[in-house]
Order: sequence, then structure tokens, then C-alpha cells
Amino acid sequence: MKEKGLRFTSQKKKVFQALHQKPQTVLEILSSLKLKKHSIDKATIYRILTSFISLNIVKEVYFNDREARYELIGNEHHHHLVCESCGDIKDVELSEENLLNEVKKQTSFQVKSHSLEFFGTCRKCQ
Ligand SMILES: [Zn+2]
Ligand SMILES: [Zn+2]
Repeated sequence: MKEKGLRFTSQKKKVFQALHQKPQTVLEILSSLKLKKHSIDKATIYRILTSFISLNIVKEVYFNDREARYELIGNEHHHHLVCESCGDIKDVELSEENLLNEVKKQTSFQVKSHSLEFFGTCRKCQ
């Protein structure tokens, strides 16, 4: 954040910090900030997220419920483990060279990017 030379308002800072835990929907961000007694509304969060997206700090990610979640950019390329029981989302990095080569070999499709998510139950929920 500092590297980009940005000065954040305290509301922006709170949204930014909320996103550190995991990718979240606007409503999840809202309820986690409300829980911490921060006064902020949905429209403000949307506005902040839109500005984060245009600054390349945040991107939208979609899982199988098709709801937009917002994730901080900056980690290495990774995939997600999505717990269908508690909704927890964790990152996982994979060595995927073989997989990408296989796709190329079988299809000669020019892959620009990909997303790969795993759905199931986390350790806590098993
Ligand atoms: Zn990948
Ligand atoms: Zn879980």
C-alpha cells in the first residue's frame, strides 16, 4: 500500500484491512466492519472497492455461487480452497506446469489466464 504512495482515508484503510483475511463479498465486508463497530455503509464500500480496482489493488473473484468477492492483488498466482460449510477461503499455490502443458498439447488453445478453485470442507468443518 505504501509502495503505491497512496494516502488512504480511515474508511479505505478499514476496507483494505478487512480484505486481508480472505476474499469477501460486499456484505461480508460490511458485517465484519459493523462487528468492529465501524460506521460504514454498503454504498461507501462499493465506492472504495471500485477505486481499489481502478488502482489495481483489488480484483473481483467469482466462485460457484457467482457472487462477486473482492481480493487483494499482490500475492503470487494462486488458487482457492472454498469451504462449503463455513465459507472460509484459503489460498493454495500449486506447481501447474504439467497441467498447463497438458492443456496446450490436447487443445492448442492459447491460454491467457485461468482460475482454479476447490470446493469442499475445511479441516475445522470435517
Ligand atoms: Zn493456476
Ligand atoms: Zn469450514
